Amino acid sequence: MPMSELFNLSGRTALVTGANTGLGQAIAIALAGAGADVVAAGRTPADDTARQVEALGRRFLFVRADFAATEPVQPVVDAALGLNGQLDILVNNAGTIRRADSLDVTEENWDTVMNTNLRSVFFLSQAVARHMATRHGGKIVNVASLLSFQGGIRVPAYAASKSALAGLTRALANEWAAKGINVNALAPGYFDTNNTAALRQDAERSAAILGRIPAGRWGQPDDLAGAAVFLASRASDYVHGITLPVDGGWLAR
Ligand code: NAP
Repeated sequence: MPMSELFNLSGRTALVTGANTGLGQAIAIALAGAGADVVAAGRTPADDTARQVEALGRRFLFVRADFAATEPVQPVVDAALGLNGQLDILVNNAGTIRRADSLDVTEENWDTVMNTNLRSVFFLSQAVARHMATRHGGKIVNVASLLSFQGGIRVPAYAASKSALAGLTRALANEWAAKGINVNALAPGYFDTNNTAALRQDAERSAAILGRIPAGRWGQPDDLAGAAVFLASRASDYVHGITLPVDGGWLAR
């Protein structure tokens, strides 16, 4: 197969959660750039993403969904199938973070983070994998974190959810590889998005983080594009259950 075909997503439809901003937006645009049509699911309309996907000549649909809620996600999948009648790629990107000392963490804080970052990811993956299994093929890409490997500071629910997400990625990969479904994760390092705005506003933390990144800069959302397309394309057909750091070398130190 020609090398360009390995990464070609023409004819594929991708469902990306939280694609209105930040990493999810960059991933949606990267997949569209490789040829995929895009369904964005989230609580905030993704008009800017729609414009950029359509400018690449790809089709786009927005589906409203609140991933902190515990309602069934099947209606989200049914609506997403409205674009092309198929889903080939699922990117579980939507996620949230709450910063507080562990002695002060509330149940609301814990439940919101766990429901958004873990519970919804499992049930959305389950619903989409039931569809993918009937077609014997699909790619699921979870957006994990450095806190899939490390404990972090004042973010216990986030660290727990993202560590569990790496485990879930392995568990689902084991079960679904034989169904033609690849389940893998990306672990972004420190990226310049809303998620990290509070860290960048804290001059001391910001300098400490920057000083520890071997690449000498924060990640820009586009830095995820190549790894996202890799895990969503035929190029990764024999890759199952990995959590791939894209972190400017942070974990190598
Ligand atoms: P972001 O700009 O805050 O984006 C988070 C996305 O998740 C937004 O689209 C947000 O929608 C959506 N979301 C949050 N809660 C939701 C809910 N209840 N229902 C539906 N959608 C919801 O931050 P980001 O950095 O791009 O984060 C994307 C993913 O990357 C997250 O899973 C995050 O944990 C992960 N990550 C980020 C970094 C980093 O350095 N930035 C590092 C490692 C991992 P709204 O716009 O409506 O809030």
